[in-house]
Formats: sequence, C-alpha cells, structure tokens
Amino acid sequence: MSVVIVGGGVMGASVAWHLARHHNREVVVLERDTSYALASSARSACAIRQQFSTAINIRVSQASLAFYRDIAVHLATPDDRPDIGLVEPGYLYLAATEHGAAQLRAQHTLQASLGVSTALLTPPELCARYPWMQVDDVLLGSLGLSTATSGEGWFDGYAAMQAFRRAAIAEGVTFVEAEATGVVTSGVATSGAQVDAVVTRDGRHWPTTQLVIAAGAWSAPVAAWLGVDLPVRARKRDVFAVQAAESLPDAPLLIDPSGVWCRPERAPGQFLCGAPPRIDADDVPLDAVDHALFEEHIWPVLASRIPSFDALRVISSWAGYYEMNTFDHNGLVGPVPGWQNAFAACGFSGHGLQQAPAVGCGLAERMATGAYRSIDLSPFALTRIASGQPLLEQNVI
Ligand SMILES: Cc1cc2nc3c(=O)[nH]c(=O)nc-3n(C[C@H](O)[C@H](O)[C@H](O)COP(=O)(O)OP(=O)(O)OC[C@H]3O[C@@H](n4cnc5c(N)ncnc54)[C@H](O)[C@@H]3O)c2cc1C
Repeated sequence: MSVVIVGGGVMGASVAWHLARHHNREVVVLERDTSYALASSARSACAIRQQFSTAINIRVSQASLAFYRDIAVHLATPDDRPDIGLVEPGYLYLAATEHGAAQLRAQHTLQASLGVSTALLTPPELCARYPWMQVDDVLLGSLGLSTATSGEGWFDGYAAMQAFRRAAIAEGVTFVEAEATGVVTSGVATSGAQVDAVVTRDGRHWPTTQLVIAAGAWSAPVAAWLGVDLPVRARKRDVFAVQAAESLPDAPLLIDPSGVWCRPERAPGQFLCGAPPRIDADDVPLDAVDHALFEEHIWPVLASRIPSFDALRVISSWAGYYEMNTFDHNGLVGPVPGWQNAFAACGFSGHGLQQAPAVGCGLAERMATGAYRSIDLSPFALTRIASGQPLLEQNVI
C-alpha cells in the first residue's frame, strides 16, 4: 500500500519526492489536472524572502533557499538537471511611518539573530543605492542581502514544481490524473480514526497507509471528508506584467508602504506588479482580473515611487488563488487532529512556493519517523486552530 497525496502542485510533489527519495516510501499522487491550469504553483509571482517576523517562517525560507540554490543537484534525474533561474537581488521593504520603521527595526533584530542579513537603509542611503527611486515620504528601508546563509529574490516556480514532479517520478512515485472525491475510513474520530482508501471520481479506490492533503486552495473540501473544518479559502490575487521605458539597475522586489509590490522580469524593462485586492472574497473567478486595481491604484503608486514608471504598458495579466489560511495566514502542516494517518500541507497564504522544499522535507520526516528531525515544523501544527493560538506573522503580502 502507498501513501496517497491529494494534489500534485509544488507542495504535493515536494512531499512525494522527499518520502520516496529519503524514506523509501511508495507514493501515489492524485492530481485532477496535470496541465496545472488553475494551480497556484503555475500562477505565482515566485519570490523567496527571509524578511518574516516569525522564526519558523525565517527558518523554513533559509532551508528552502539552500535547497533551491542547489536544485540542479538535489533534483537531477538521468534526463534533467533542473534550472529554475534563481536570482537574489533582495526584497526592499519601505516604511513611511514611525510605526512601520519600528517594525522593520524589530524584525531586523530577530532576523539577524537567525543569521539573516538585512541592511536598514536611511533615505539618503536608499537614494545612493537606487537613484531611480523617489523616497521623500520614506523613513526607512530594509533590504535583504545575499550571503552564504540568506538571500532573497525570485525564480521560475513552474519549473521548480515540474522538477519536483519529474524527480519524484524518477524515484518511483506514481502521478495519476484523477480527481479525489472521498475517502473510506474506519475507527472513531475522537479515538484516532484511520483513512483506509481514497476514492476518485472514476470510481477507483486507492488503498492508503497515510493520506496527505496538499490540494492548495481546494484543501478545505478534502478535509471536510474527515469532518475537519480547515480554514483554507481560495482568495484571488491579480498579477500585471508591464513594460517600462527603461530597466532599473539592481532593482529588488519592492514592497511599497501602500502594499503595492513590483519586481523585474528577465526581459529588459519588464516588471511584474500587484497589490492586495480591493475586495478579498472567496472563490472569485480567475478570469475576472481587476484591471481597475492596476489603473486606479497600482500604477499611480508606482509612478510616484519610480518616476520613469509614468509611462508603463500592461503586456499581460493573470490571476491565481492564494490558498489563504483565514485563521492566521500561515501554513497548516502536520497530523490532522483526530486521525491516525492523515496529514496536511496547505494554507500557505501566498508563500508556499518558497516554503515547499523545507515543508516537504519536514513533513516527510514526521510521517516516516514520527518526529521532525531536520527542521521542526511544529509551529505550523493544525492544533493551534482548536486551541485558538494563531501564529502571527506581520509580513503577509
Ligand atoms: C498571484 C500569486 C502570487 C504568488 N506569489 C508567491 C510568491 O511570490 N512566493 C511564494 O512562495 N508563493 C507565492 N504564491 C503562493 C504559491 O503559489 C502557493 O503557495 C503554492 O503554489 C501552493 O502550492 P500547492 O501545491 O499547495 O497548491 P497548487 O499549486 O494549487 O496545487 C494544488 C493542486 O491540487 C489539485 N487538486 C485540488 N483538489 C483536488 C482533488 N480533489 N483531487 C485531485 N487534485 C486536486 C489542483 O488541481 C492543484 O493542481 C503566489 C500565489 C499566487 C496566486
């Protein structure tokens, strides 16, 4: 019998690869759409940062960055040495209020204590480093530096997901294109019930030793089969690809105090940008890109921050779902309470691509050995929901 993973995006594929490669487990991944048309892993902005306000998110990003830096070695197969085009120009958080500046300073202290290198920059220092940026309203900036133990930037997330998938298949993992629609269980939930099989829409039963819920924004319906109310919702986020008149030398991923973000693409003068939505509702269709968000909010903010962005042309746009954990905006990882052999890896709320390597590693260890070994993911435990103890992260984008 196999471990059965529902969802073959970056999270499911990472857990599958770690289980097969490092723990010699038989694994079946059920993925309803192998074109990944709607999967968050195919619609992401694909950035990785260390500038979090909680130790667990920092540690997870450090471990994941180390993995992504060497992905060509870790996920090499006889036919493939994956290249995800990781670059590390840093994230630049700007603060325009005393409160925001105090937060950056406090986070700098925590980040430094964990070996993360961030530079706190005054307005004159920001001007000297980024002469193309207007900083009249800015009090402080925090820039992530690339060092042996830390770094921030972006990469090709779809390539990373495919690399996990191909490497998992090379280790013997079976990916099946099928939609999971239910489970067969035994025992009583309060005393440790058990998932015996997963059922797919085509009527097949997949006997399982352990179940992993890695269905991204669609994880709550899967958990509902176990009688568990998982606070994970599909929340649309829009991304705009724009052409500017010129490239910006050494541009980082900029987080404006307004919440607008922007980062360069590979092609000269091209950038991705976005902002929190005006209405954050569940299940808004992905074909409904909010163009007014760009016209009325993002562009004016960017044009005043970067004067050369006065002339911008949108060359494409798309939307994807954050798998939003509405309880506390952080990953839900580990055993599903009340179940002997059910686990979750979901709810990453917009930072799942960067967390996939470390979460896959830790959860596979927990499932195979009963304990976290390389990285302790217990702060992400689902038990925090019932006990009403949110894991509060200030830097949610
Ligand atoms: C616009 C946008 C920008 C983002 N930017 C970043 C970023 O900069 N950095 C970062 O780290 N993260 C970012 N994210 C978040 C990141 O993309 C996600 O956290 C990550 O991709 C989640 O991976 P996943 O495998 O859990 O989910 P998905 O990639 O969504 O995969 C889940 C899979 O489960 C399948 N599935 C669902 N239900 C079933 C079922 N019943 N049976 C079978 N299959 C099923 C789906 O088809 C899907 O393929 C962003 C996301 C969006 C939308």
